[in-house]
Amino acid sequence: MRRTLVAGNWKMHKTPTEAKAWFQELLRRMPPVSAEPALMVPFTALAAAQEILAGTGVAYGAQDVSAHLEGAYTGEVSARMLEDLGCTYTIVGHSERRQYHGESDTLVAQKAKRLLEHSITPILCVGEPIAAREAGNAVAYTLSQLEGSLEGVEPGSPDRLVIAYEPVWAIGTGKTATPQDAEAMHGEIRSWLAGRYSPGFAEGVRVLYGGSVKPDNAAALFRQPNIDGGLVGGASLQLDDYLKLLEAA
Ligand code: 13P
Repeated sequence: MRRTLVAGNWKMHKTPTEAKAWFQELLRRMPPVSAEPALMVPFTALAAAQEILAGTGVAYGAQDVSAHLEGAYTGEVSARMLEDLGCTYTIVGHSERRQYHGESDTLVAQKAKRLLEHSITPILCVGEPIAAREAGNAVAYTLSQLEGSLEGVEPGSPDRLVIAYEPVWAIGTGKTATPQDAEAMHGEIRSWLAGRYSPGFAEGVRVLYGGSVKPDNAAALFRQPNIDGGLVGGASLQLDDYLKLLEAA
């Protein structure tokens, strides 16, 4: 049984002070929910997350990690540092990193390995741009990205890997994949994982949908058999919206 994961991706929003107040308010207002709440926050908000959220059942993590272990890499943050901050998850391969920072599948796979070595579960993002969808190549594009980004990545057990399918054309655009289109892609991803790892492994891995998930479309997406929750940008910034997403799951 896969527990629905509602992961917020704050991207480059909120100062540490704002984050701290938001976390405190979340704990005050959060009703009992069956889904797992998680927040992927800027590096600078992780200490506040550790202070307020550790041990509460609300997971947190970063949005990126260095592919290197340690050393002279100015500006980088290592998996060991994130582990020390109590991160459960961390995003790798987000399309904004791939697009604006030129991250390749090979680099993304290295980052996923560093996280696994430090007891952090990667949330690995894949998804096609609009041109690939219009050309009818969405599945091939996405599975090829998955293959490259999981090269040499051996999570061992299915709870040590989360996949997020985020069609690039749906991110921040208000255009959501239909529940049927998303479900079809999630089924393809799960079948691919069965071949790459094993059928039992694929059954246990959570595959999230991301791209303009909002309170009014979340329930229909999360109800699909192969959609195990969401990776949510804009709608995770307002606490009212985030609480509605948790309740929709
Ligand atoms: P939006 O929910 O703002 O479309 O962002 C999706 C996303 O990129 C989550 O990682």
